Amino acid sequence: MTPRTPPPRAARPDPTREGAFDLLSAVLVRHRSLEDALDTLPPGELRDRAAAHRLAAAVLRRTGSLDQVIKPHLRRDPPDPVRQILRMGAAQLLLLDTPAHAAVATAVALARSRGLTPFTGLVNAVLRRVAESGAEALAALEGPRLDTPHWLWSSWGNDAALIAAGQTTEAPLDLTVIGEPPPGGVVLPTGSVRYPAGTRVTELAGYEEGRFWVQDAAAALPARLLAAKPGESVADLCAAPGGKAAQLAATGATVTAIERDGRRIGRLNDNLARLRLPATVVQADATTWRPPALLDAVLLDAPCSATGTIRRHPDVVHLKSQQDVTTAVAQQQALIIAAAAMLRPGGRLIYAVCSMQPEEGPGAVPVAMNAGLRHERFTADELSTLPAALTKAGYLRTHPGLWPEYGGMDGFFAARFVKI
Ligand code: SAM
Repeated sequence: MTPRTPPPRAARPDPTREGAFDLLSAVLVRHRSLEDALDTLPPGELRDRAAAHRLAAAVLRRTGSLDQVIKPHLRRDPPDPVRQILRMGAAQLLLLDTPAHAAVATAVALARSRGLTPFTGLVNAVLRRVAESGAEALAALEGPRLDTPHWLWSSWGNDAALIAAGQTTEAPLDLTVIGEPPPGGVVLPTGSVRYPAGTRVTELAGYEEGRFWVQDAAAALPARLLAAKPGESVADLCAAPGGKAAQLAATGATVTAIERDGRRIGRLNDNLARLRLPATVVQADATTWRPPALLDAVLLDAPCSATGTIRRHPDVVHLKSQQDVTTAVAQQQALIIAAAAMLRPGGRLIYAVCSMQPEEGPGAVPVAMNAGLRHERFTADELSTLPAALTKAGYLRTHPGLWPEYGGMDGFFAARFVKI
């Protein structure tokens, strides 16, 4: 096909592509998070929203590679909305197995519906070429490198290639389960149960009955490492949406779940209610909140740059910068100091972040030491089901390059401290 092939008769634009285009504009132009952008999509079929989300996420995950595949077919830079449509078309052709005629025709229709009629010929021609030779071009690229901003790549040291490779595909669905897991999952060595990417949790048997909750296998580790016992007084300082609070409550400990954000408190309450797990939920700023009596244990799953969750939130690579890491570090320090003040002597703190940035992980340890805490290493026994996650210094460190045979895991850092 030559670039002069006339565009096919336009199919009607559909909610999936229209929605994905709006999501991409929200993230890449208006710098909104993908999750917030999803909330602003016009109400529609759940299936359409899920498909729009999946398509937008595929573009955000592989933007650098998709641009490189498209580039040789462009004589000059197209306007941003046209580039978005080309990326979406290329993602469908190369990453999502959409039949070529559907990917091309819907891209042309989308260009028309967005007032880009002068570009429909270009969209048609470029995507036909991508359909013909794009798979080969994509395979020849150093994709993970192209899809990762330099500041992140250089911050991940020797693991950068492994981590970035682990982020090129959609993440599976992991559950923390009470009792028997719903059929179709793989029980991972750490006990989480894994379902193929795209599985909808609300459609699994036992959801309404509250027999499980969504939680990445790595995210399930910090609360387990706190090893709360029945009757212990435990606070979860940054609790919403509640995965770790639920784990703590399931141990029989007396749990207080603190959350500052009113909107997220709603999700926390809904989740605990569905799971029928008891916890006292308090809306408060954990840097100033204090318990009525000193606590046996605290879980601090601190707000962070979230670079460990790029597989699930590929907008992070487009939205976050080193400045966000610096801002998060200041919050983490204040929260660690507050957590130390809540503990009885001998009380335990697990500090955790879903970040792979060293400043937010090992960088936080001296702050804890200055706040009257001593570091207590995790042991090989405690991490016997995931030995690769135990660092020389005795921290937990996971990343998407671990467990390639199962489909990776999120990036997490955790360390344990004891109040002196
Ligand atoms: N632990 C949660 C879970 O497992 O579902 C995830 C927690 S998320 C990483 C961080 C949470 O901390 C956010 O919901 C955020 O609103 C909340 N947060 C941030 N700063 C806070 C503060 N100073 N006090 C209380 N909550 C805070």
